[in-house]
Amino acid sequence: MIIGDYHVHTPFCPHGTTDTLNAYVESALNKGFKEISFTEHAPLPLGFIDPTPAKDSGLAQDKVARYIETMIDLKATYKNELKINVGFEVDFIEGFESETRQFLDHYGPWIDDAILSVHMLKDPYGQYHCLDYSVASFGDILRAFVSLEEVYAAYFKTVALSLESDLGMYKPMRLGHITLVEKFKRQYPYDYSHKLKNQITALLKDVKAKGYSLDLNTAGLFKPDCLTMYPNPVVFEEAKALGISFKAGSDAHQSRDVGRAFDLLELS
Ligand SMILES: [Zn+2]
Ligand SMILES: [Zn+2]
Repeated sequence: MIIGDYHVHTPFCPHGTTDTLNAYVESALNKGFKEISFTEHAPLPLGFIDPTPAKDSGLAQDKVARYIETMIDLKATYKNELKINVGFEVDFIEGFESETRQFLDHYGPWIDDAILSVHMLKDPYGQYHCLDYSVASFGDILRAFVSLEEVYAAYFKTVALSLESDLGMYKPMRLGHITLVEKFKRQYPYDYSHKLKNQITALLKDVKAKGYSLDLNTAGLFKPDCLTMYPNPVVFEEAKALGISFKAGSDAHQSRDVGRAFDLLELS
């Protein structure tokens, strides 16, 4: 029985919806949840140029204080009905570790729960790409790396770097959607289960050894070119067998998606 949704966005998200926080909370209560983690996209690190056209991947820096204040009020409002965790989905961007650490050092004391995610991939020419933006932009990534094998290998290498990185004492202890590279896999099919098996096994063993947990993210089920959760069932089973713990997350960007498809999850 899953009692909470641990990956939820908010009206503060610049690429999300304007659904109110009350609507998210009511949606969680309607599902019978006891807990929710609001994990808004943290601002991208200082000096990093968002490669997406609208440059709206993260919260604007000047909105962070307002976000935290609003969340503290929300916690108080619902304190008898729902445990509300305030947090962030923090981007891990290769080469911007110290800027990310600065953010966490500053805001860490207010964070109840957080996720560390890789959305940005550095190509062999040093350019950054947003992995999950669109099929067309995934095509650009493929051209930069030449083969899907290289794209996937670079992605999982970056996830491994995120795990090893020193982001200070407030570093999130849960990795977000660790197979996000598959978001467009029906357009760009690639069976990496044999080729990258050792790399993935090593990553999962490291997750376990370092005491991290994983986001079991249902959003991929609803992406038309993905249709599997993150991680996919094969990686999920391997992680479970290693004793890695998971937290269910809908990655909702609208209130009605809180807890979406959690009935399909097998978490024991
Ligand atoms: Zn988002
Ligand atoms: Zn994400």
